[in-house]
Amino acid sequence: MAWINRNWLMFGIIKGLVVTIKHFFQIGNRPVVTVQYPYKRMEIASRFRGLHSVDENKCIGCGICEMNCPNGSIQIVRHHKRWYPQVNIGQCMFCGLCVDTCPMDAMQMTGEYELAQRGRDGLVYDPDKLLVTE
Ligand code: SF4
Ligand code: SF4
Repeated sequence: MAWINRNWLMFGIIKGLVVTIKHFFQIGNRPVVTVQYPYKRMEIASRFRGLHSVDENKCIGCGICEMNCPNGSIQIVRHHKRWYPQVNIGQCMFCGLCVDTCPMDAMQMTGEYELAQRGRDGLVYDPDKLLVTE
């Protein structure tokens, strides 16, 4: 009751309602800031950190990305007689340290963000899934 006595005109609530009504009936020149995902998608920022990719020709299998990963998400594995990183994105926090420390600029992060899987095994990206040729 004390609150109602103090705010009996309820300016705050009315102000909020006016904003809601304006949005609901699309009154005024208000920019749309949401998209109807998944039918529409937002433009991804160039520095967005999504799924990794490894340039097959640049990677030398040195393991520096593995050493620098704070979550232990990277493992260097054998693939067609060479060594490449395998990334467990279930453990990854997408910090980008693996990309920053790669001496060959072979590791990149793409704009891919739809990474949900039904099982944990699907979150392990082996070289077959990560390697790209530029
Ligand atoms: S991605 Fe870079 S840091 Fe990782 S093994 Fe390949 S060359 Fe080394
Ligand atoms: S983004 Fe970070 S946590 Fe993920 S694999 Fe690279 S270094 Fe590890």
